[in-house]
Amino acid sequence: MSKLINPQETIKVIQSNDFKFQKRFGQNFLIDEGVLSNIISSSSITKDDCVLEIGPGIGTMTQALAEAAGHVIAVEIDANLIPILQDTLKDYSNVTVIHSDVLKLDLNELIENYNSGKPIKVVANLPYYITTPIIMGLFESEAPLYSITVMVQKEVADRMQSGPGTKDYGALSLAVQYYSDPYIVQLVPPNCFIPRPNVGSAVIRLTRHAESPVKVINDKWMFKLIKAAFGQRRKTLLNSLFSGASVPKDDTLSALHNMNLSDTVRGEALTLEQFAILSDLLIANASD
Ligand code: SAM
Repeated sequence: MSKLINPQETIKVIQSNDFKFQKRFGQNFLIDEGVLSNIISSSSITKDDCVLEIGPGIGTMTQALAEAAGHVIAVEIDANLIPILQDTLKDYSNVTVIHSDVLKLDLNELIENYNSGKPIKVVANLPYYITTPIIMGLFESEAPLYSITVMVQKEVADRMQSGPGTKDYGALSLAVQYYSDPYIVQLVPPNCFIPRPNVGSAVIRLTRHAESPVKVINDKWMFKLIKAAFGQRRKTLLNSLFSGASVPKDDTLSALHNMNLSDTVRGEALTLEQFAILSDLLIANASD
């Protein structure tokens, strides 16, 4: 089977299988060889690695991953793509295709079954409509992962990387930075895909921290406060923690004084470290 990473081969496979793109599955297939080779090299895969690919499409990136990795597990939701993948990947004995919604998979069980519970690497050109639930699901599952190297919408990559006081800073930035070290590998224009998305894209690598950069008593409680803090950006922290996490205003005021912060401070001004301190100071209010 020839390499799919060019417009001619991609169109050939799509037409000969009478494949219809489904917008609801975020299907934009990669056709640029330079971008593909950057994704593979920035994910630093070796033959010792087991890789999880989310959404293989017609198998373009899967072919390159199979050549670089020991084993590739490719999870695809669209039933119409499964017979196509069986054909485009038939020369690769180290690929397992799973027909499933990745959001419904038990990741720990998958890693136990295919990699004896040892850490894997995730590499994908993600379906943009579910980027945040996929990334949060990967981290919150606490499954063993070395890194996540993914194509995402450019704005989302900016949000993952940004710090306090910027317009892009929010709950996603704090979650990504709590769990990993984000690094934008490259920006990718719409003409690198078929069909062309109507947004710019970026490849981002998230390298899992061996240890979180901040210590916190209960990280679920910290993230509940963070979500409340950014739920209504224009509200003060005092009001958003009251309405979004039922924290009594007197308790928030005393924590803010303790931290030398103003009564009118907004969530977007706080660093991850400050959210960790705030969360510990308000731990008596924690509820799951
Ligand atoms: N990897 C291919 C490529 O780069 O050409 C396709 C990438 S395309 C942006 C996203 C892929 O994710 C599509 O194949 C789509 O069907 C699949 N997908 C969408 N939602 C999914 C889900 N919940 N679980 C698994 N795959 C999904």
